[in-house]
Amino acid sequence: MRICRFALGEEIGYGVVHGADEDGAITPTTVVASLIGHPLGELTPDGRILPIEEVRLLAPVIPSKVVAVGRNYAAHASEFGNEVPSEPMIFLKPSSSVIGPGEAIVLPWQSTQVEHEAELAVVIGRLCRDVPAAQAEDVIWGYACANDVTARDLQRSDGQWSRAKGFDTFCPLGPWVDTEFRVADGSIRCTVNDQVRQQADLVEMVFDVPALIEAVSAVMTLVPGDVILTGTPAGVGPLHEGDTVTVSIDGLGILGNRVIDRG
Ligand code: ZN
Repeated sequence: MRICRFALGEEIGYGVVHGADEDGAITPTTVVASLIGHPLGELTPDGRILPIEEVRLLAPVIPSKVVAVGRNYAAHASEFGNEVPSEPMIFLKPSSSVIGPGEAIVLPWQSTQVEHEAELAVVIGRLCRDVPAAQAEDVIWGYACANDVTARDLQRSDGQWSRAKGFDTFCPLGPWVDTEFRVADGSIRCTVNDQVRQQADLVEMVFDVPALIEAVSAVMTLVPGDVILTGTPAGVGPLHEGDTVTVSIDGLGILGNRVIDRG
């Protein structure tokens, strides 16, 4: 099932997306069956079927935290001359960096080198701590596309990554949460102005999703709606004012965002 969060006038709600195609692309017949309340737990339709072009899709969750993983594809680690780490290397992005599909990534004045990082996002569905990899499936609500936007120059100069990874708008997430997506089948792609920049199979991850959940939950409690970004493949590159960047994962969906200057 594909579950979105949307705005319709003053109202903000959740809904089940029907009629997207097999790749997760929106079609002229795609609709949102809106729900009463929050979709974690029992789903209660409120009876309305809304054409998707009549609503504005928002980030599908409001996470308490976004935990990201560095160097989780060997080819990406080596493009910066780094070794693959011996255990997952985690860092945090603030929840204030999250934006939804169609919202603008804002280039901050502090950086001259802002780059895209296409990533699979895991959305947590249950309060949990110390989850063994074998039980990781039990705490996953679903998956989404994400872009771990990074100010590469500040990542280098600061020595730690809070600023480089933490600007407002630096975590596009969406277009919805797919609760049935299977990682083993998926490939991820990033385009900038329709030119392919990144492309990989998700099984190329160094640490797979269950291993990441075990490692992260051994450090911190995860709560429903929390997001784990699973690392980016090779091919990261710059974003400029006026660009449109998309992250697409076959069978899941397409997340598109334009890039604007703070100016
Ligand atoms: Zn990343």
